[in-house]
Amino acid sequence: MKEFGYQRVSDVAGAVAVLGADPTARFLGGGTNLVDLMKTGVERPGRLVDVRQLPLDQIEPTSDGGLRIGATVTNSDLAAHPEVRRRYPALAQAVLAGASGQLRNMATVGGNLLQRTRCGYFTDVTKACNKRAPGSGCPAVEGEHHNHAILGASEHCVAVHPSDMGVALAAFDAVVTYETADGPGELPLGWFYLPVGDTPHQETALPPGALITGVTLPPAPVAARSRYRKVRERASYAFAIGSVAAALDVRDGVVHDVRLALGAVASRPWRARAAERVLTGAPADGGTFAAAADAELTAARPLPRNGYKVTLMRNLVVAVLTELAEEATR
Ligand SMILES: Cc1cc2nc3c(=O)[nH]c(=O)nc-3n(C[C@H](O)[C@H](O)[C@H](O)COP(=O)(O)OP(=O)(O)OC[C@H]3O[C@@H](n4cnc5c(N)ncnc54)[C@H](O)[C@@H]3O)c2cc1C
Ligand code: SF4
Repeated sequence: MKEFGYQRVSDVAGAVAVLGADPTARFLGGGTNLVDLMKTGVERPGRLVDVRQLPLDQIEPTSDGGLRIGATVTNSDLAAHPEVRRRYPALAQAVLAGASGQLRNMATVGGNLLQRTRCGYFTDVTKACNKRAPGSGCPAVEGEHHNHAILGASEHCVAVHPSDMGVALAAFDAVVTYETADGPGELPLGWFYLPVGDTPHQETALPPGALITGVTLPPAPVAARSRYRKVRERASYAFAIGSVAAALDVRDGVVHDVRLALGAVASRPWRARAAERVLTGAPADGGTFAAAADAELTAARPLPRNGYKVTLMRNLVVAVLTELAEEATR
């Protein structure tokens, strides 16, 4: 492991200034992803800037009825917060579906959004990988890709984003706020992750050296009736092979409002807008739910060994929406 410096920062301006002065420096949240990648040589920062003492560890209501979640809130505190559980239950469920209790005690909101892909070629520095070493190729296209993307990928990279939390945030139109030396900025989650294209190493639209300060959830009454469902190869402590975050408001048997996002299918949490268009105003029944899933998955381009994900995601969307619709009529 390469030698590196370590420093704690206690104010946002100071944190941003350190990264501005030292391009080899990286922010350290819980370290549950960054430190692992440093041990394998995938990441080689010259300095770690520990952000956990920044005053960004609060979850607060916003004046318009939403919630503001600080970047250093741990995954455990996020999942346990009463307002998150009451107003955005799928977010709490998504966080609890990830990692383990010990990891969630360490992992932060900012770090979760920026965690890297679990593609085995990316984490093995002896292998080619366009994301880690631009221009070196993507062995996953012809090789091991059973858990890779079916939506929005390119021949340059077919990896998926591993975050569970991000899928619920995508469903609820979260906005990421950040700070740079030039001042604050914000990015809706739909714009936060860049399309893969031919630059899979450029993952987000964050300016260089930006510190994520938090995530804002706009008010969304429909989110109170929401659910996160994750399919994985083990019952716990495993990344998703497919997941769904959904919220559904049914009135007189008709879909009045809906939010739907898919996980482990693309390089970013995938907001299912085509499905939402089919659902809105339609009868809340199995036929509509299947048609909505098909509308979204018509864009799927599976690889030879991950076609199963198309069926999996169709069934998952229909199952979760059916459960939410049944609950709405009770
Ligand atoms: C065994 C294991 C199983 C896991 N299973 C799951 C799972 O099922 N689902 C899931 O979603 N996740 C899972 N995870 C991933 C885990 O959730 C992430 O490692 C974690 O959320 C990262 O948060 P962190 O604070 O530790 O980030 P760090 O490791 O500290 O940082 C990650 C990245 O974010 C950057 N960063 C951190 N904070 C900021 C900030 N405020 N501003 C700008 N950049 C920042 C760092 O520089 C780094 O690039 C698992 C991890 C492990 C080790
Ligand atoms: S899928 Fe992406 S991360 Fe995996 S080997 Fe290809 S370029 Fe690298």
